[in-house]
Amino acid sequence: MSLTTTLECAFVGGRRINHSGDRSALVDPVDGKPWIEVTAASAAETAHAVETASAAFGNGAPGNGWGRSSSAERSRALFGLATLIEEHAEELAQLESRNVGKPIREARDEAALAARCYRYYAGAADKAAGATLPVAAGGLSLTLREPLGVCGLIIPWNFPMVITAWKTAPALALGNTVVVKPATLTPLTALRLAELATQAGVPDGVFNVVPGSGAEAGETLVRHPAVRKISFTGSTEVGVGVMRAAADGIKRVTLELGGKSANIVFADADFERAADAAVWSVLGNAGQDCCARSRLLVERPLYDRFVEAVAERFANLRLGLPHDASTEIGPLVSVAHRDAVAAYIDAGKSEGARLVCGGGMPQRFAQGAWLEPALFADTSPRMKIVREEIFGPVLAAMPFDKEDEAVSLANDTTYGLSGSVWTADLGRGVRVARRVRTGVISVNSASSVHLEAPFGGVGSSGLGRELGMAALDSYSETKSVYIDDSV
Ligand code: NAD
Repeated sequence: MSLTTTLECAFVGGRRINHSGDRSALVDPVDGKPWIEVTAASAAETAHAVETASAAFGNGAPGNGWGRSSSAERSRALFGLATLIEEHAEELAQLESRNVGKPIREARDEAALAARCYRYYAGAADKAAGATLPVAAGGLSLTLREPLGVCGLIIPWNFPMVITAWKTAPALALGNTVVVKPATLTPLTALRLAELATQAGVPDGVFNVVPGSGAEAGETLVRHPAVRKISFTGSTEVGVGVMRAAADGIKRVTLELGGKSANIVFADADFERAADAAVWSVLGNAGQDCCARSRLLVERPLYDRFVEAVAERFANLRLGLPHDASTEIGPLVSVAHRDAVAAYIDAGKSEGARLVCGGGMPQRFAQGAWLEPALFADTSPRMKIVREEIFGPVLAAMPFDKEDEAVSLANDTTYGLSGSVWTADLGRGVRVARRVRTGVISVNSASSVHLEAPFGGVGSSGLGRELGMAALDSYSETKSVYIDDSV
């Protein structure tokens, strides 16, 4: 695609439309060259999308709108969407890989995950049941699960397709309508998903996408009175503002924010598995992952050998072009973000951490957003690289002596999203998993996100849960109905 291509840049009411707002070029992270021009949705255009979604939700009369559609209808459309995603998986993966700069093999996995997500919630549409309750008054008390209305779904740039699926699938399954605001840098796959949803039978106006800036499209979405819920994934700083603004309209809010998660390795751990996982739990998506285990805590007897093994793995990573199936690490999302990550590497060096390997800009990729993954050892809890979310390929290692110390180092953060514990002692694995303050943790595994299990953070990492059946609660309202039996 050349720059002469201008994307019709929103999807509202079942069709692509162009906006009058600012034009900007999406820049290829590989070489820093513009490759497609997009227009941003203005405040008025975003409001129009919300009103379209509100009309599509319906006025509450039976048979009127998605809000009163049958669970069978919603389920059918979402199953259809899952199948269409599978049929277009390669196209979606290529689009995501080019836009974000992520290795194609990761993008392919993400397309498969998006399809699975719509299929999972297609199956959940008719399982969001209420209850009958033994109230003291006698009679019949029961609860209904009702959709909320229009949901504003705000997406970051690191996993645009997957996070769009995580939010839209449960929202749509329960009869809500949605306005998705992708990150400015990465609108492409969300637009394509909305188009495929229409093709799958999701009615016009139910699934809308408004690419635009946070300050204009994002703020409008958060403040519009017809929006009943905001689900936001992004930085803690912006999330705080979103929650404040949403309070004015008493909107429901789910926040999935940043992280600074710990990978705790005890001396009795399976060495090879733990060393591989220490690499991939921080370097997946080039470290641009809220769940990145960016702090490596290793029991002292193992520490030197473990750091060496991780360094060796870092040095052997296949840094390469995103479209190459053998590439393990691609560029970061943008040159500006790469520079922000590089500034953390400088801070690590000036604060006295030992740079074991990486951290430079690879010579063979002179242009673009490239950075060699950096491993720091002998870090300490007060260092900036240990305290702040870097959101890039930087790992900070430090030793610990006792189980208690490992737990308190892991908990020495305002964040609490993910984490891993490696040990042959299952009892210790359970104890540590319980004591680390985090939303998600894995024992002898790097895997922290499962479609079927609740996902979310504590503290500065967020509020509420996505995924699993827990997501159904966050996209529905419970109504109590009492029927008198005395007349
Ligand atoms: P960001 O906070 O800059 O932006 C996120 C989204 O919010 C974008 O769509 C942006 O345009 C929008 N936005 C910005 N200002 C807004 C405003 N005032 N009102 C409404 N919307 C606004 O984050 P980012 O740089 O895109 O993503 C990186 C961050 O996201 C990292 O901190 C990362 O940890 C976090 N993240 C968290 C999770 C999770 O599930 N916990 C997942 C992915 C990313």
